[in-house]
Amino acid sequence: MDYQKKIERLIKLVKDAHKTVVLTGAGASTESGIPDFRSKKSGLWNKYTPEEVCSIKALKKNPRKFYELNLKWWQECIKAKPNKTHYSLAQLEKTGWILGVITQNIDGLHQRAGSRRVWEVHGHLRTCHCFNCNNEYDIKRLSQSYRCDCGGLLRPDVVLFGDAMSEDYYVAEQVMSGCQLLLVVGSSLQVYPVANLPQFARQVVIINHECTPWDDRAELVFNQDSGAVLSKLVECLGESCGPYFSL
Ligand code: NAD
Repeated sequence: MDYQKKIERLIKLVKDAHKTVVLTGAGASTESGIPDFRSKKSGLWNKYTPEEVCSIKALKKNPRKFYELNLKWWQECIKAKPNKTHYSLAQLEKTGWILGVITQNIDGLHQRAGSRRVWEVHGHLRTCHCFNCNNEYDIKRLSQSYRCDCGGLLRPDVVLFGDAMSEDYYVAEQVMSGCQLLLVVGSSLQVYPVANLPQFARQVVIINHECTPWDDRAELVFNQDSGAVLSKLVECLGESCGPYFSL
């Protein structure tokens, strides 16, 4: 199917669905200059696996190394600006075409683009807290010290490999209940349990540069930039309003 036909099919799927939800991954933010983890050429971790670098075990074993490896890309996340993907999804929420966005991203760019219903299943980079006394700090504290005033070790409020899932993840499972259409945007669908979420949707559309394990079961697969596909969708829907407009 050519690109124009796929866009037409996408518009029909969105218009026909009574409940559309979006799931985003690191690919949604690459156009903001934040590298993803698993792109073949430009993925962030070519030397290490994400499991080695972003794990609770790595933090406890060698906090200095953990923060040396992670702080740089977290700072890039904090400085980055939303891109066409984030703005298009915010617009789709505003016009009622999508209920909201379940995101694996920790960069906060959906909210900064204007999305209001965002479920951050892997946490966020706004705060950190102490393992020992649970005191909470602004994330900026970590660039000065990874120690709390009590001497305990600080950890960011992101979900690391080896952590329990966030509360938002369980809310996201409920959000998926009765979902007619799930748009998967910029995710390799390799990180569990999030990669299980598409099974709760009746129809799935994938917008991702590379193949995913869900491609065979998807109604449509776009291997294009998510910003281009989603801004085209917004343009074609124009001023029309979807089922969530009054929310
Ligand atoms: P991933 O790195 O496993 O997959 C990203 C996918 O996006 C790749 O398959 C790539 O082909 C695709 N992609 C890249 N740019 C794209 C674009 N412009 N348009 C369409 N597709 C594009 O990412 P994941 O599935 O989200 O899992 C990685 C984990 O890493 C997540 O848990 C996430 O929390 C974390 N992470 C977050 C950020 C962030 O917050 N910005 C950045 C890197 C990693």
